[in-house]
Amino acid sequence: MLSLYNTLTKQKEAFKSINPGKVGMYSCGPTVYDYIHIGNIRAYLNADILRRYLVYLGYEVRHIKNITDVGHLTEDDIAQGDSGDDKIAKKALSERKTPEEIARFYEEKFKEVEKEMNILPAHYFPRATAHVPQMIKIISSLIEKEYAYEKNGNVFFDVTKFDEYGKLSGNTLDNLKVGARLEEHPDKKNPWDFALWLKASKEHLMKWESPWGIGYPGWHIECSAMSTEYLGDTLDIHTGGEDNIFPHHEAEIAQSECSSEKKFVNFWVHNRHLLVDGKKMSKSKGNFYLLKDILEKGYTANEMRLLLLSSHYRSQMNFTWEAMEQAKNNLQKISDWVNNLKNVSGVSKGELLEKIDFSHIYQKRFESAMNDDINTPLALAVIYDLISETNKMISEDKLDKETADNILKFWERINKVFGLIISENKIEIPADILTLAEERKQARISGNFAVSDELRKKIELAGYVIEDLKDNNYLIKK
Ligand code: AMP
Ligand code: ZN
Repeated sequence: MLSLYNTLTKQKEAFKSINPGKVGMYSCGPTVYDYIHIGNIRAYLNADILRRYLVYLGYEVRHIKNITDVGHLTEDDIAQGDSGDDKIAKKALSERKTPEEIARFYEEKFKEVEKEMNILPAHYFPRATAHVPQMIKIISSLIEKEYAYEKNGNVFFDVTKFDEYGKLSGNTLDNLKVGARLEEHPDKKNPWDFALWLKASKEHLMKWESPWGIGYPGWHIECSAMSTEYLGDTLDIHTGGEDNIFPHHEAEIAQSECSSEKKFVNFWVHNRHLLVDGKKMSKSKGNFYLLKDILEKGYTANEMRLLLLSSHYRSQMNFTWEAMEQAKNNLQKISDWVNNLKNVSGVSKGELLEKIDFSHIYQKRFESAMNDDINTPLALAVIYDLISETNKMISEDKLDKETADNILKFWERINKVFGLIISENKIEIPADILTLAEERKQARISGNFAVSDELRKKIELAGYVIEDLKDNNYLIKK
């Protein structure tokens, strides 16, 4: 039984979906005004692993990831009124492009990175700009129910009207009063009210008609509109990075639950942040990395994927180049192991000394690690144990083809969850080399070592290496 840590209840809970066998999952996607960084990749990869494991367990998962191509103004931005920078519009002005050109360009780049990282594409990537009518509908219902109010063309959510405000983040209004630092907007009733709709000035680039005049949506409303549009009023799972908990997800709950009068999300799953060299990534500190920077250092996206899987999503992760090097070595280890297993057929039949039902033992261990709140580092440790055990058997020529094939099948099943790409390295040994090797084996059995040495030289001249195993068995390598 899968248990997941739920930020809402602050404990691990047995996962249960609303509809048996089906899971609706929503992940906050990128604001498309720049390239995504390796911290963002961590967030998307965690959602990917969770989704893949749910599929492994037999669920049919519908995964929605939004594209924020308008808005994403922080409360501080909003406090400064319409001159607050919409990140996409700002970039458009600086690059002399339209906001749409900027958004489409970075959306494409984001999708390329996800593909390189072997992150399964969401079933749908709704764009915020295509869902303004849905946002207006929710805002209208909130005004009607008096959870929201309009002033001078701006609409705010009144946080004092929602008793449960703060239930996700712990930032209840009482807690927020202490040490609050928030710029006031002249049209707000309470400092923690958040914008649902903002009046647009003439210069504002992205704007829409609405019942409250020409304006544009606040940042949070898009996720309420798009998640419920594609998954219904209550979602099974909502994911995001820890920085999303407040104010973004707290606001999503307030808007959605007041509008639908239903619970918005059953499981809130948040990943902790990725740091670089122990610090928050920042361009000015020179510790800000994109996938491109990792690739330029000679590492692969696949190695990066393994590195990210090596930490539990709920622990803070520290990226270092030493850890990257370690991930490279570990991936090589997995790769060699898979290829060795495939080549076990190339070994003449060794006598099987032990018959171990690897799949059964290791599958149980893998599942108990993953069932415990998607513990990927533990799940990987299980595989490293299996690698050590079977590598030892291969070197002692104790692994028969049938067992090797079963282990391979097991690996393929669980690698649908890890999503690592293992390059094929199966060597096809030409028939004449196999004949020479067999002749050499016979020569060795009859103690004719001069002939055996001659044959070894012939094999080596043809570009192959023969490695002797126990009982006159052998392994041919290129
Ligand atoms: P943003 O485009 O800033 O909204 O971020 C996209 C996703 O990445 C969100 O789920 C964030 O919470 C997450 N995120 C941002 N920075 C990091 C980081 N350093 N480590 C892990 N996740 C992050
Ligand atoms: Zn969101």
